[in-house]
Amino acid sequence: MTVGDEVLRRLRMQYRIQAEEYVSLYTHLQSRDPFRVLVATILSQNTTDKAALNALKTLERDVGLSPPAILGAGRRRVEKAIRMAGMYRSKSQCLLEASRIIVERYGGDMWNLLKGDAEEVRERLMELPGVGGKTADVLLTTMGIIHTVPVDTHVRRISTRLGLVDEGASYEMVRKRLEDVFSANSRHLAHLLLIAHGRRVCRARRPLCGDCVLNDLCKYYKEIRKN
Ligand code: SF4
Repeated sequence: MTVGDEVLRRLRMQYRIQAEEYVSLYTHLQSRDPFRVLVATILSQNTTDKAALNALKTLERDVGLSPPAILGAGRRRVEKAIRMAGMYRSKSQCLLEASRIIVERYGGDMWNLLKGDAEEVRERLMELPGVGGKTADVLLTTMGIIHTVPVDTHVRRISTRLGLVDEGASYEMVRKRLEDVFSANSRHLAHLLLIAHGRRVCRARRPLCGDCVLNDLCKYYKEIRKN
């Protein structure tokens, strides 16, 4: 059994994935609409999934969740609707600009952007404002278009502590390394389980190493036990 299989096996026994705790997954399961998943994922940047979900629901109620609806509403109404997600000015600017590009280049239908080779799709997505590697990977992995491990703050922290990746490694280095660690069909689940573990046990401050099911595999734990 590889280290990735073992990490996954233990985390699966520990956590049940609740879609409502992951705004991108929840939105995908509710709608199967890539534009909604894009909006959800942008809203979730630098905030909690709960705040992002509340903002998404308000945006849907007050503005609508389609590129023409967001464009038609204008900056002030979008800002007001998503305020609770934080960084609402920059997020609103990204949503308006992304909506404009989707209308002008893709006829208002985000499925047109997602057609073709997966790596090209990823590149096209990253041309949208507010969409970096992580946001593109969350959207594409959640929708089953590519199989990777989006590297958010929890994923990076736990992978580094376990000794799977080097501290300070670039986003792409961590992603590629985790693609080696986890098989293609388990990468999305690995992403979700690592987030669950990072929220509950392997927290940024004072991780609960004594209670952690991964502690015998963990470089960080071995080091703190030595000191
Ligand atoms: S042993 Fe501690 S640092 Fe290592 S994965 Fe578990 S909680 Fe995180």
